[in-house]
Amino acid sequence: MAEYVGAIDQGTTSTRFMIFDHDGAEIARHQLEHEQILPRAGWVEHDPAEIWQNTQTAIAEALKKADLTATDLAAIGITNQRETTVVWDRRTGEAYTNAIVWQDTRTDKIAAALTEAGHDEVIKHKAGLPPAAYFSGGKIQWILENVDGVREAAEAGHAIFGNTDTWLIWWLTGGPAQDGRDEGLHVTDVTNAGRTMLMDLETLAWDDELIALFDIPKQMLPEIRSSSEVYGHTLADGPVGGVVPVAGDLGDQHAALFGQACFEPGTLKNTYGTGNFLVLNTGTEIVRSSNGLLTTMGYKLGDQPAVYALEGSIAVTGSAIQWLRDQLGVIKAAAETEDLAKSVEDNGGVSFVPAFSGLFAPYWRPDARGAIVGLSRYNTVAHIARAALEAVCYQSKDVVDAMIADADLELEALKVDGGITANELCMQIQADVLGVDVSKPVVAETTCLGAAYAAGLAVGFWNDTDELARNWSEASRWSPEWDDSQREQGYAQWKKAVDRTLDWVD
Ligand code: ADP
Repeated sequence: MAEYVGAIDQGTTSTRFMIFDHDGAEIARHQLEHEQILPRAGWVEHDPAEIWQNTQTAIAEALKKADLTATDLAAIGITNQRETTVVWDRRTGEAYTNAIVWQDTRTDKIAAALTEAGHDEVIKHKAGLPPAAYFSGGKIQWILENVDGVREAAEAGHAIFGNTDTWLIWWLTGGPAQDGRDEGLHVTDVTNAGRTMLMDLETLAWDDELIALFDIPKQMLPEIRSSSEVYGHTLADGPVGGVVPVAGDLGDQHAALFGQACFEPGTLKNTYGTGNFLVLNTGTEIVRSSNGLLTTMGYKLGDQPAVYALEGSIAVTGSAIQWLRDQLGVIKAAAETEDLAKSVEDNGGVSFVPAFSGLFAPYWRPDARGAIVGLSRYNTVAHIARAALEAVCYQSKDVVDAMIADADLELEALKVDGGITANELCMQIQADVLGVDVSKPVVAETTCLGAAYAAGLAVGFWNDTDELARNWSEASRWSPEWDDSQREQGYAQWKKAVDRTLDWVD
């Protein structure tokens, strides 16, 4: 009897494979970084062949570290950087061009043209997303229009599209067809498909009207499946070294929601990394945002009804801490912000709005730029460090408030994960500015864990989400210490500072 579940986390900077036991505890991991290819300003690419190679190595090395083999794995799940677009030749397994990464802005004009032509409303209504370079649809269109031979190959059924989940599942389950062996599976799940601008949130199917807007041959698109079911099996002679069900697939933020056991409507997780990602479970109801949030899939388990979510992303949180370290040189390591900020009682009147690339949710103001305001001669770098940590928390509060307004809910607690949650002061400030408890789980690798959970559920390794919820246990909790007037004053100062950053660039 297999006692473990494996999960691939194909991220923006690295790919890892982790192995978990029945309690959700980590047994082993192996991780490899891949090259960030930056051919011009605004372009970000990855080499899909390198990602597949790294995935194979990560799986083999993690199994070796744990002294396990394929027979010890009940299933494998996958979670991935969302939106990143690969188009490849199904006859050879060769990509026609590098993957276009979610951060890449080369398709800004495609998105702007859709808005100008008045198509933004239908995209928003059906797909839940405003037209933006971020999502996959425009990236597929760009490849069809700019890489020689791809459109013809797509029309002939040779060129196929996938995000990195689809790319890896295709390889794991077969790759190109060979004598006596079928081609790998060309599938994705609803959470990934939901980030293309091509899927209708209600029908969970590719939408002909949306596909036509991007002029994409439909046969390029993978089959949309649930997030938790047996899609297929790994090849006996593949990197796993045996036949294991591939049974879970979730985009990274959705996997983190799942790994945080946010199964009930109204539960919310906030992942603190380079930027922040907040995802709120809205249950089986599609909530359309009037406050600048994205409507997205939460997850779908087999043939159970789909669970939806609201998402708010913040571009700059941890990267503002990196900026203090790398550009200003006032700290040597991110963790130093904690002691530095603790050395003063409060922000000393200073606010730091790190709108380095404009403001994302809920403001969506590309004209904003960063500002440190309220300075007097009394201030030191400690106040600026404190203001930087507060900025992480106030930006999160802005998104939480938008979610509360959209979904009409009362928040009980905020579940957190990600790098910055190591900063105790920052988490205390988060509880203070929100006025609710902040809670961090023992297993911090919620993204990988979520993919493992989805895979394990599909094969009966875990019975249901109640069992998973019981696996979730708290490592730390921070409760609000500010009174209401402190909270109001602090937030008023933040809002004033945000105002000062607007209308800065044309
Ligand atoms: P990602 O997955 O986006 O690469 P991580 O979850 O690894 O991010 O978090 C890294 C980010 O968190 C970095 O931007 C770093 O500056 C910030 N960070 C890490 N530790 C701390 C800390 N103790 N205090 C403040 N910021 C931190």
